[in-house]
Parts: sequence; C-alpha cells; structure tokens
Amino acid sequence: MNVRDKFNLEKLASGKEINMDPLWLPFTPNRQFKASPRLIENAKDMYYKTSTGKSILDGIAGLWCVNAGHCRKPIVKAIQSQVEKLDYATAFNMSHEGAFRAAESITNIAPSGLNHVFFTSSGSEAVDSALKIALGYHRAKNDGQRHRFIGRQKAYHGVGFGGISVGGIVPNRKMFSSSLIPGVDHLPHTLNIEKNAFSKGEPNSGVELADELENIILLHDPSNIAGVIVEPISGSAGVLVPPRGYLKRLREICSKYKILLIFDEVITGFGRTGEAFAAQKFQVTPDMIVFAKGVTNGTVPMGGVIVNSDIYNAFMHGPDWAIEFYHGYTYSGHPLATAAANATLKVYRDENLFERSNELSSYFEDAVHSLKGLRNVVDIRNYGLMCGIQFLPIAEKPSQRAYDIFEKCFEKNVLVRPAGENIALTPPLIAEKKHIDIIIDTLKWAINSSI
Ligand code: PLP
Repeated sequence: MNVRDKFNLEKLASGKEINMDPLWLPFTPNRQFKASPRLIENAKDMYYKTSTGKSILDGIAGLWCVNAGHCRKPIVKAIQSQVEKLDYATAFNMSHEGAFRAAESITNIAPSGLNHVFFTSSGSEAVDSALKIALGYHRAKNDGQRHRFIGRQKAYHGVGFGGISVGGIVPNRKMFSSSLIPGVDHLPHTLNIEKNAFSKGEPNSGVELADELENIILLHDPSNIAGVIVEPISGSAGVLVPPRGYLKRLREICSKYKILLIFDEVITGFGRTGEAFAAQKFQVTPDMIVFAKGVTNGTVPMGGVIVNSDIYNAFMHGPDWAIEFYHGYTYSGHPLATAAANATLKVYRDENLFERSNELSSYFEDAVHSLKGLRNVVDIRNYGLMCGIQFLPIAEKPSQRAYDIFEKCFEKNVLVRPAGENIALTPPLIAEKKHIDIIIDTLKWAINSSI
C-alpha cells in the first residue's frame, strides 16, 4: 500500500461511522466515554447541539472560557477574515500588527502598572512562562539565588512540569511525583467547611492562613524565594474563595521580602468576577497576571503573562542586538489568536459584559444557595459568576457523586462541571436569569435523584 492510500480519507469523511479508538481524550475516563460518547456538533450563544440533536444549556462557558457565549458573529468573522489575510507569522524576529494591538488592549484593562504582555498558546504554557520570567527577573537584578517557588494546596496551574509542581491537586501530581521541579513549597489551602460552610462571597474566617507564607519564607530564608503563585479564586478545586483580607496579606508579605506575586487568572480573568481581573475586584495588584481562556472567548488557543514595568525593564538590558529572554512558542501571538482576542475584547466592551456579570452575580448567588439543605450538599461557595457545590463523598468511590450528578444533568440537557467532590458552575456572562433558573432546577433534580 502506498502512503497516499494510507490516508484513507474517503472512509474518514463525515457522515461515516466514527472509529473511537485512535483518539485519547484528556482528563476523561476514556473507556466509559467511548462506551457512551457525548458528541457536540455545533453551538450558539448559551447552547450546544449534540450529534443526537439535543440542545444542551452550557452552565460552564465551555470550560470557563466562552464568556461571551458560543459562535459569536463578530469573533467568528474576525477569525475568518484574518485566516484569509495572514494565516501565520513567526513571532521570532517578526511580528504583525494584531499582536501589538492585542497586547495593548489587554494592558488597557489590566490593573494599572501591569503593562507588558508575553503571549503563549495556553494557560499551562503561560504558568510555566511566568515561573521562568520570575527566575530571569531575579538573575537580571543580580539576585539569581532566588530560585524557590511557593504555590498552594489544591491549586490548579495547568499541566506543564512547572504548573503541576506549584499546583496542589494530588491526582495531577501523583504519577509525576519523581519529576516535579525542585524548590517548591505549598501554602495551606483556604477551604474550611467547619467554619465557613455556605459563605456568600468571601468567607470571614481564615485570613491568618496567609501568615503561613511568612513562615515558609523564613524557613528557607527570604533571599532564596523567587515567587509566590496563587489563583485569586481556586477554580478547579471547586471554587475556593479567599478569606476576606487574605490576598492583601499575601501581597504585603511578598512586598516585604521582594518576592514576586503571581496571580493565575486563567479562570478569573475577563469578567468572571465582575471586573476584567479578580486583582481589580479584590484590589490587590500582583507583579504578574497569567491569563488564557476568556481572552479569545475560547475560540483560538491563547494564553499569556502580563508583567509590570519593573520586570519588563529588568530584561531590557545588555547589548540591543541580544535576545533578552530565551523563551517563546511557535504560536506566541498567532495571528488567528490575536484577531480573536481583539474581536473578543470588543464584544466584552460593546456589550458591557463585565458589568453584566457583576449585576447578575447577586441573582446567581441566591439561586445557587437555594441548593442548601439538599441531600449530601455540604458546602456552597460563590463569587461573581462562579460557584462550587460540594457533596459528601461516597466511601471508597471518590468523585463519584459529583460525576453522577454531572451525567444526570447532561441527560436533562444541562452541562455542569464535575470537579472532585464538587460541581462547578460558571455560565457565560451573557446568561439571563431564565438560564440560571434552568441550571438550578436541573441540578436540584439531579442532586435529589443522585446516588
Ligand atoms: N491555570 C488555571 C487557574 C486553570 O484553571 C487552567 C485551566 O483550567 C490552567 C492554568 C491551564 O490552562 P490550559 O488548560 O489552557 O493549559
């Protein structure tokens, strides 16, 4: 058989039966999925359409990314016209107008002082880039012995080796335990069901957990610490909202010891909390913000790191012909991604979606807390348009209850996100009250009829 025949494209044409075997799905029980697949064919605004013709209400904005709703015309058109004009340009020694425009638009809505953007193709790459920037910064400041990082238990920072090392989700680290990057400690997580269960917004108790940062820093000597990385609100762990005053305390401790504070806003960025970034909502300015997801409304993979001038300028020294940072990706600032980002940011502005998210958040809060008292619900946490509903685990079957509820909701045409013992909700920011009602009613039914 020659190579041309091996392509076998006619057999693979759409409409023919799908062979499920070659594809290995990420973060999915593959065998179970392939026995009973959920295939999406198209999407519009708040809804998906499956291959069996069902309309599914999207309660999680794709995967915390489709903030403006699906297949939005201005974004689709911008990507289409970009691909016809310029499909690709390397970002090494070359660039294109769209990349500069996207960087400027992002810095315009970022906290003041954060005014330079390094583009990547995903959140994981952005996290690893931020860690490298921190190391490079300290070297540039003749402080290169600062090499240690401090993350937090239950944190999700993507799946690169840097991200899983500073991350704190045990199953994501377990298989790779021998190969994590050295010199990493973890702050305690801030979940405290005994004291804070069913808090609305920021829990009142737990600010003192931030003081553990100082203990860890002093254990290693501050002169060895490069950076601290946290999600302002831990998303994948089931939406853990920081105790009131906690992030400010982290900022003070980092500043005291000249340690860089990195906020991973891959989920909380672009309106999820009612502001462009959670940093603004909590009025705490980090030295770097990691972003991805909502920047392109999920249409084209893109991530990045926003840094302050002190960091950027620290790299801009040495002879002007020399590369300042030996790091970057084939797809950094990809023309389709930046076209998507520019169009997405315009939709966010034109439709006041960050304000809208803020306005809808109190209705959302009341709605999600109406689930209190249902079977096995042990906690509900919320902030902006994100919430986590936590269940009593089933003995010997971790995560099963939330997964069962996810499957039941899908049967009833609503997509929610199972995350450990939690169900997370993060609807697109265009959601209306009626959508929230459908999601909550479906969840009520699913919780009541779950195992
Ligand atoms: N950081 C956070 C806080 C995330 O929630 C995620 C993904 O959900 C990532 C990083 C990784 O992003 P990606 O999946 O684009 O690599």
